[in-house]
Amino acid sequence: MNMAEFACRSCGKTGPALVLSLGLSPLANSLLTKEELADPKAEEKFPLDLAFCEGCSLLQITETVPPEKMFREYLYFSSFSDTMVKHAETIATRLVSERALGKDSLVLEIASNDGYLLQHYAKQGVPVLGVEPARNVAKVAVEERGIRTITEFFGRELAETLVKDGQRADVIHANNVLAHVPDLNGVVAGIAIALKDDGVAVIEAPYAKELVDHREFDTIYHEHLCYFSLTALSHLMERHGLVVSDVERLPIHGGSLRIFVSKTKKRSAAVTKLLAEEAGGGVATLGPFADFAKRVEALKTELVEMLGDLKEKGARVAAYGAAAKGATLLNFLGIGKNTIDFVVDRSTHKQGRFMPGVHVPILAPSELLTRQPDVCLLLTWNFKDEILEQQSEYRAKGGKFIVPIPEVKLL
Ligand code: ZN
Repeated sequence: MNMAEFACRSCGKTGPALVLSLGLSPLANSLLTKEELADPKAEEKFPLDLAFCEGCSLLQITETVPPEKMFREYLYFSSFSDTMVKHAETIATRLVSERALGKDSLVLEIASNDGYLLQHYAKQGVPVLGVEPARNVAKVAVEERGIRTITEFFGRELAETLVKDGQRADVIHANNVLAHVPDLNGVVAGIAIALKDDGVAVIEAPYAKELVDHREFDTIYHEHLCYFSLTALSHLMERHGLVVSDVERLPIHGGSLRIFVSKTKKRSAAVTKLLAEEAGGGVATLGPFADFAKRVEALKTELVEMLGDLKEKGARVAAYGAAAKGATLLNFLGIGKNTIDFVVDRSTHKQGRFMPGVHVPILAPSELLTRQPDVCLLLTWNFKDEILEQQSEYRAKGGKFIVPIPEVKLL
């Protein structure tokens, strides 16, 4: 991509600054079937370049892969993570109480996945509506959890239809979805339309500061178009008449921002303070990104050498977590079947398939005990505590985990 021609997805300014190039990479969520493995044409590769917009501070990749190539079949079910379900229950319980939600309220979630969040409102008698374009995932929400779900992309048009239908929301949730949509302004305009005047939108997104501070380069993949700072989010919301009234930092997904967005409230002291931090040489400026590429290369060298040493000593190596970040990490490191025998994952939808690019097979986590590899590279390091606890038996028998990010550690 020619940087001079690339226009920022939020403010439209052209010519962002290139921050990191991860080279050509396959689509990180396109886990291959056995048949696809035999067909080299089944797997396309696209450039993965990260750039910073000096107009609105939005960090973003410059390639937009057509959605029809990416969403053939969506395999991420939020409910396979205990951490995600617990996280969802906590915020739902809090908002029901803080905003006195009841049978006349409406909670809308954009990208409602398998109903992992809305189920907690429904249980408390609050009407809910999910919007989820991936049919196979939405089906689980409807059939197993009884969550009313529209299988469409959320934007201006859908929001207008809802309002005509008398369905304006008291609360709109958008967790980890803004980063995935090419038309950022369409989604935020939709939020402004569908939200009641005294309503609140609660938006969560991985924080760009954590990405750069902790070298979380593996969170960069084609489906993940944008990486937000509070400054970038604030510019985006204000363009649509919305105010970021409060902000919290969350440990989830390697460190996220949760913002509360309103039509009428003012910025809290926490918002003003974080915006000032970001503007003063923080992630609203190019400064923190200056040596990012070098720091990522150093991490790559360290990991590749460590795995090389282990293999030389005859160690058997596996990996945990067939997530998109795992595919990014393995492809960037150039580590495949010669080093890693298999990847395990709890999702039954992923088992039996193969990691994109590197073609390592995906098996059930029970295989860690059956085969007892000497070390296991933890690709889903963002769920480290949960996974180490689940795998206490493997560890008790001498199995070790390599945590790659933010620092390489053997546990
Ligand atoms: Zn911009």
